[in-house]
Amino acid sequence: MGDALPARAVVDLDAVAANADVLRGRAAGAAVMAVVKADGYGHGMVPCARAALAGGATWLGVAHLAEALELRAAGVTAPVLAWLVVPGQDLAPAVAADVDLSASAVWAVEALVDAARRTGRTARVHLKVDTGLSRGGATARDWPDVVRAAAAAQAEGALEVVAVWSHLASADDEASDALTLAQVERLHDAVAVAARLGVRPPLRHLAASSGLLAHPAARLDLVRPGVAVYGVSPAPERFSSADLGLVPAMSLRARLALVKEVGPGEGVSYGHHHVTAGRARLALVPLGYGDGLPRHASGRGPVALRGRRYAVAGRVCMDQVVLDLGDDDAARAVRAGDEVEVFGTGADGGPTAQDWADAAGTIAYEVVTRIGARVPRVHVGTAGVVGGPGTAVAAAASGGRA
Ligand SMILES: *Cc1c(COP(=O)(O)O)cnc(C)c1O
Repeated sequence: MGDALPARAVVDLDAVAANADVLRGRAAGAAVMAVVKADGYGHGMVPCARAALAGGATWLGVAHLAEALELRAAGVTAPVLAWLVVPGQDLAPAVAADVDLSASAVWAVEALVDAARRTGRTARVHLKVDTGLSRGGATARDWPDVVRAAAAAQAEGALEVVAVWSHLASADDEASDALTLAQVERLHDAVAVAARLGVRPPLRHLAASSGLLAHPAARLDLVRPGVAVYGVSPAPERFSSADLGLVPAMSLRARLALVKEVGPGEGVSYGHHHVTAGRARLALVPLGYGDGLPRHASGRGPVALRGRRYAVAGRVCMDQVVLDLGDDDAARAVRAGDEVEVFGTGADGGPTAQDWADAAGTIAYEVVTRIGARVPRVHVGTAGVVGGPGTAVAAAASGGRA
């Protein structure tokens, strides 16, 4: 599908569903909130949300309220938590759409109460405590004030406190396991403080992908995996996605725009950081940093072509990269229009998003999430597809993402 496009990101919804199922197994009884923020880490938010729900997730998580409303507009009815709001933002649409919001400060509780009054509904809130990341969440000192404000609003029916929650700082890193356990303890302490102040929500949650996979004590009632849902390891130093039984869902593919022969000593791409060693075939891949390929992977990013791996020759440009195929029989067989895989499942020995992350000195999260809007997402597989088998592309298109 999409074979005539210069480039496309093929997203396997069945892999998303299977990954969600694996994570549900690993969650050992905790409910699974599939995190689909940032357009489903670049995979297409709505189709991936549906696939994750089909695979056994029962909650969805996003950062922005607008993302939650987009899920609702697409007809997704599962519980959704959005955790990033700023003062002055109108929260009434979230309350009206039955979207759960997070509060880390008294002003956020007050904004939710205001939204509840204006909509005539009860706002659902997850109270966030900072257990050591020093990002979102109330400090231990501010926590009682946040809880008291929520308790008062709950007593008058404006608010329902659904959860006490927090986020881990270094769950991916074995050297920080003591910090992770300390954060678990601090969450329990915050739950106890809330209980003393009369707030006893049904849920506690703390773990994202790496917390879920590496720290049983952090699983609690609900886990919030994001990157692992898309089959990418959250902690490649601890375990690969294959170790975890996860399948990378995105395969970034392109068709060669040009193949040509050049002589020895030719400088390739901006700055001539690559020079041909001898007579060579050069192949032009129509993807560049304007599509999200990291420019830091210049000279290193791997690409599979006809079962072989080549490193990008020289600089990654805005729209294109060049491969130096050399001058052997394999090189002479390559034609314009041939398909390359920039990254994929890795099952066939091809490159993965993790390989690109290693080549660029970043994390695979960033590689997949940054694949740009210029690259069409082509959803394949049937998991969660409205209308059943064979309609994945149509469903994605109606979501405005294909
Ligand atoms: C992004 C995010 C997640 C998911 O993190 P992963 O490491 O991708 O599993 C969970 N919770 C919060 C608060 C987040 O910001």
